[in-house]
Amino acid sequence: MDEHDYDDLPLRQKRGLRRSARIDRRAERLRAPVPVQPATDTATEVADPVLPGEALVVAITRGQCEVEMGGEILLCHLPKALALVQKSDLAVGDRLRVARRSSGELVVAQVLPRRSRLSRPDPLLAHRERVLAANLDLAVVVTALRKPALATGLLDRFLVALAHGGVPAAVVVNKYDLAETQGGDAASDPELARLAPYRALRMPFLFCSARSGLGIEELRQLLAGKTVVFVGHSGVGKSSLLAALSPELDVRVGEVSTMNSRGRHTTTRARIYRLANDTRIIDTPGIREFGLWKLDREELSGYFEEFEPLTPQCRFNDCSHSHEPSCAVREAAAAGALDASRYETYLRILASLETER
Ligand code: GDP
Ligand code: ZN
Repeated sequence: MDEHDYDDLPLRQKRGLRRSARIDRRAERLRAPVPVQPATDTATEVADPVLPGEALVVAITRGQCEVEMGGEILLCHLPKALALVQKSDLAVGDRLRVARRSSGELVVAQVLPRRSRLSRPDPLLAHRERVLAANLDLAVVVTALRKPALATGLLDRFLVALAHGGVPAAVVVNKYDLAETQGGDAASDPELARLAPYRALRMPFLFCSARSGLGIEELRQLLAGKTVVFVGHSGVGKSSLLAALSPELDVRVGEVSTMNSRGRHTTTRARIYRLANDTRIIDTPGIREFGLWKLDREELSGYFEEFEPLTPQCRFNDCSHSHEPSCAVREAAAAGALDASRYETYLRILASLETER
């Protein structure tokens, strides 16, 4: 927000913003790149010894988090500054240095820099970022062949948001058992033609069926050793795939996300589950609806990898690939050399970024 916006705010909100700026600064100190000083508890200013090694945040509750450290799950307190801004400054998947208080309690000493993150605007404070998960190695974007119908526009948006957050993606098309076989050949299903552009992208692409077990072994291999999140429209089979991967995991299939009395989705806490093969799955309903946080129009075309070889041929260096004359991207889409549906999504996202400014 710029100064003008600030002038228009009611006094109460201004105070809130000043307060949150102060808290942000304190939280920022916890994010310093190197732990120079031993951690100090802001309440007592007593230095607590920092423990060797790193801890992984597997769940966050009010004022504290659960961490995995040395193969154990331990409770760790958040210093006050961090507790107040925890929704943006601490997320499952974060790596920490922790200190031990004289009482024996563990406390967060430092949040280590993130490799990647998935964020969305905070539902209450739109200018604030809410980090849903950090340090993901892979996001599996799940779609279904049918039930619900294949939504390629949504798939494109997920892929753009993931690329923007620096999270590698894979596409899983579930419910392959629902392919309409003509002459006994599932591959002749016309729905599969719509997926052709995705199979040509540089990321893993799998057909699966949680019901028949098709592709589950390949999926397991793809996830091995990684911290992963499953995203996608509800009903595509994310929980079913998790259950197929790991029957001992307690995931509820067909569960509808909880609504409060005003019909809003209530916030449900995120958690990391550990499977065999050193695979960690981050499960958070919120992550299934993450938005395009702070995306610049200029960045957008970079997230459509098939535009890459074409953009140098556009007449203008700063071509937005929407209306400009002699735009190689627009011309390729018109000529059928580029997938028309992906290009359409590009234009839609571009237009939405325009109006947000
Ligand atoms: P989520 O909302 O993405 O977690 O989806 P769920 O795992 O809850 O599955 C939604 C519905 O699709 C359930 O009724 C599942 O039984 C069904 N389903 C899941 N995977 C498959 C599959 O591979 N084939 C078929 N035919 N149905 C499936
Ligand atoms: Zn262009």
